[in-house]
Amino acid sequence: LISVRQLTKEFRRGVVALDHCDLEVYRGEVVAIIGPSGSGKSTLLRSLNLLEQPTSGAIYFDGADLADKSVNIDLHRQKMGMVFQHFNLFPHKTVLQNITMAPVALKKKTPQEARQQAMTLLERIGLADKADEYPNMLSGGQKQRIAIVRSLAMEPEVLLFDEPTSALDPEMVGEVLDLMRSLAADGMTMVVVTHEMGFAREVASRVVFMADGRILEEGAPADLFDHPQDPRLKDFLSKVL
Ligand code: ATP
Ligand code: MG
Repeated sequence: LISVRQLTKEFRRGVVALDHCDLEVYRGEVVAIIGPSGSGKSTLLRSLNLLEQPTSGAIYFDGADLADKSVNIDLHRQKMGMVFQHFNLFPHKTVLQNITMAPVALKKKTPQEARQQAMTLLERIGLADKADEYPNMLSGGQKQRIAIVRSLAMEPEVLLFDEPTSALDPEMVGEVLDLMRSLAADGMTMVVVTHEMGFAREVASRVVFMADGRILEEGAPADLFDHPQDPRLKDFLSKVL
């Protein structure tokens, strides 16, 4: 579904955030990206959504080169939901409005269709009773689950997550990971930057380890966690596991 080739991102001369990264994401896969702070994980994820402009290299989505002038970036972004660390819900809109806005504006759904779909999604996460609340009335875990279903309402082909649980109180991490786990079980394609090694191990089809802007190792979770090869990965795991 996504093919990243020799992607390099240099913010300033000498500040190389990504250094010739190659990555494939297949349909239905959950790819977990792990690595130390500053290793380029967010930059890689943001590049997939064209929130960062590559310095060199290419990204293909469904076979189309995203650098191609004929690619409609807005349409592309609709196919890729993005979930951030800090929810990014609109504070002055209700939960229901947060979820229905984009489908009505961008997918030309009728308000009724969008509302029905939103309520189905809210029921799925057990928050239908919060539909008319404002985000500040909700817990962090609830906000993040709503941010996730808001992305889902756009019916994306892939969901990108950047540390979706790292701003949450520990007791709320589980409910967000459970939702992500259930999306994975439904076959949703996901790319997840995470510090949750348990989640990566259990849910990811593939784990990618980054350091210094490079992908140093990737593989099945069991191989990567139990038999790390790269010394940087061994060192990283010894600190986080
Ligand atoms: P963390 O785990 O702390 O979120 P990360 O792996 O997501 O780290 P990135 O945020 O991708 O790392 O950053 C990679 C490198 O690029 C870092 O050296 C960072 O300082 C640099 N960088 C990121 N964004 C910018 C920017 N907008 N301008 C300049 N440098 C940047
Ligand atoms: Mg980051």
